[in-house]
Amino acid sequence: MAYKITDACISCGACEAECPVSAISEGDGKYEIDAATCIECGACAGVCPVGAPEAE
Ligand code: SF4
Ligand code: SF4
Repeated sequence: MAYKITDACISCGACEAECPVSAISEGDGKYEIDAATCIECGACAGVCPVGAPEAE
C-alpha cells in the first residue's frame, strides 16, 4: 500500500523534494501522492512538519 497525505497537510512542499521517485505533487489544498508510483520509503513522513503522510 502506498502512503497517503491527510488533510493535516499545510502545503509546505518539503516532502516533494524528498521523494526519490517524484510521486508527490501539489494538489487542491494539499499535496498528493501518486499511489502507483510510491515505493513506500517513508521519506515524506520523515520530513513532514505536521505528520500528514501516513502509510495506508
Ligand atoms: Fe515518495 Fe517515499 Fe513518500 Fe512514497 S513514501 S510518496 S516514495 S517519499
Ligand atoms: Fe504537506 Fe507535509 Fe508534504 Fe508539507 S511535508 S507538503 S505539510 S505533506
